[in-house]
Amino acid sequence: MADKKNLRTPIVCVMGHVDHGKTTLLDKIRGTAIVSGEAGAITQHIGATEVPIDVIINKLGDPRLRDRFIVPGLLFIDTPGHHAFTTLRSRGGALADLAIVVVDINEGFKPQTYESLQILKRFKTPFVVVANKIDRIGGWVSQKDLPFAATFKKQSEDVQARLETKLYEVIGELYNQGFAAERYDRVTNFQKTLGVVPVSAMTGEGIPDVLMVLLGLAQKFLEANLHYSAKGPGVGTVLEVKEEKGLGATLDVILYDGTLKKGDTVVIGSLGKPIQTKVRALLKPRELSEMRYESKFKQVNKVTAAAGVKISAPGLEGALAGSPIRVATEETLDEIAAQVKSEIDEVRIDTGSVGIMIKADTLGSLEALVHEFQKDDVPIRKAEVGDISHRDAIEASTVEDPLYSVVIGFNVKVHPDARDFLQESTVKVFTSDVIYRLVEDYQKYVKEQQE
Ligand code: GDP
Ligand code: MG
Repeated sequence: MADKKNLRTPIVCVMGHVDHGKTTLLDKIRGTAIVSGEAGAITQHIGATEVPIDVIINKLGDPRLRDRFIVPGLLFIDTPGHHAFTTLRSRGGALADLAIVVVDINEGFKPQTYESLQILKRFKTPFVVVANKIDRIGGWVSQKDLPFAATFKKQSEDVQARLETKLYEVIGELYNQGFAAERYDRVTNFQKTLGVVPVSAMTGEGIPDVLMVLLGLAQKFLEANLHYSAKGPGVGTVLEVKEEKGLGATLDVILYDGTLKKGDTVVIGSLGKPIQTKVRALLKPRELSEMRYESKFKQVNKVTAAAGVKISAPGLEGALAGSPIRVATEETLDEIAAQVKSEIDEVRIDTGSVGIMIKADTLGSLEALVHEFQKDDVPIRKAEVGDISHRDAIEASTVEDPLYSVVIGFNVKVHPDARDFLQESTVKVFTSDVIYRLVEDYQKYVKEQQE
């Protein structure tokens, strides 16, 4: 077994359709963990929350479980919007080691549910499905914070049957998407079968079960990924580039490997040459008890993976959300700059011949879009991170074939001068914050053109 001290915390991402309960679930996990004893044991990171293993075990109520897990805890990413997962990439593919897909058991699958599943399948990320809002099933009598089996037993036969019917609709949908799934307590091999946990994020019913399944998945993940460690030079992913009062441009980063220190030289991806700069300050959120301070942040000297941290440094303005950030030394600087550049070039495509134009908000979402369109054999002429500019509009208008005189925009703005230009032109523009919808809309457009 690997040295326990250097194991890093697995990163968990919560995905699913808007309003199906992602935020409520995360709040519940956080809240449950806080009330379960050790206040302060929860560490609030920038963009993430860390729940240590002891807090989870405590919640599960069986201390014997302690020895079964070598995981130091779980780092939950606080999804800053429903497009977040696509931002969350790392050298290996997905930044998240594990995921939770939340689906409203009463509403069933929606576009972003499908999208989440496609992304997870592509990156082979282990995940658990939460069939949420069971308290809304007709006749359900809520039993606050109880594990699923215990609350299920207390329901009438009718209600139990209703839950099973809805649950197996979810399981059927998963099957249609290519996943063998089962109610999690009926799964014998989580490598082969996806576990579905009936939950109420509102009342906390089923939350212990979700944590249990996650720990099981985390354990498997760690066994397969022991090369990740808290030691060595830091490697991370930029979640967001944010303007902060008094600090200028800062980066919210999830560090997924190694250690990052104040004063370190770092290389960050940008649209042009990678940025090379020195970390001026590493910032973490203040604890609630320290709120008397004027600043929301406190400085730390170093952070160790996995962690979320804000970086203040000169020259961060052009940094790209979704791009890598790597610690370098004088000797490794050139090599690391080249590495970062190639990681970004892999995503950018600019063939200069025929095809559509794609603009997206982050590298990860751009990559996901390019992948989806290429799967459909749609040629792409240009794919770039950024808003739709006047220049983009002009460029698209020079394309004669109406099938390719198209701009696809994911989570981006159309600049006012571009908008004016586009209104007068024949360029077709599709914008959305759902990848799936952009692909569908484009397919529909192509069909119409061909009729
Ligand atoms: P998100 O968009 O996926 O983050 O969804 P939210 O967590 O914001 O939840 C959307 C709405 O559903 C909110 O009004 C929540 O209070 C409600 N909600 C979330 N989980 C549950 C649940 O388990 N039961 C019930 N009854 N409502 C829920
Ligand atoms: Mg939310």
